[in-house]
Amino acid sequence: MSKPYTGGCACGAIRYEISAEPVFENHCQCRDCQRKSGTAHGSYLTFPSRDAVTVTGQAKHWDMVGDSGNVKTRGFCPTCGSPVYLTFAAMPELFTVHAASLDDPSLFKPQVVTYAVRGYAWDHLDPALPKFDKMPPKGS
Ligand SMILES: [Zn+2]
Ligand SMILES: [Zn+2]
Repeated sequence: MSKPYTGGCACGAIRYEISAEPVFENHCQCRDCQRKSGTAHGSYLTFPSRDAVTVTGQAKHWDMVGDSGNVKTRGFCPTCGSPVYLTFAAMPELFTVHAASLDDPSLFKPQVVTYAVRGYAWDHLDPALPKFDKMPPKGS
């Protein structure tokens, strides 16, 4: 096992430690990610098991229905407002963190761009990354 992934919010009230490797790393250009990031995409690492995740501090939770129709719960810091993590009602084992919440954001290795259909010309991402109009087909 390599070093755990650690990170948290901007003010330090929320911290996490994850002793697993991410199973999915993406930029998402959906409208929800644009609104909540304040720019044109969100960048995420998704981990396979909540058992590997320790969160300290009390995040505030906000449920929203995504473009896909799935309920997503966003965990953010009530003090500094930073978005920190995401969980999914339909896939309760998954735990997703925002790339820039990592103590070392260079660990983020984006694999794909999701919801590229919503992307803006001014949000130019690595052209070598596979782009999906929505999410990649299941099983890929
Ligand atoms: Zn904070
Ligand atoms: Zn999104």
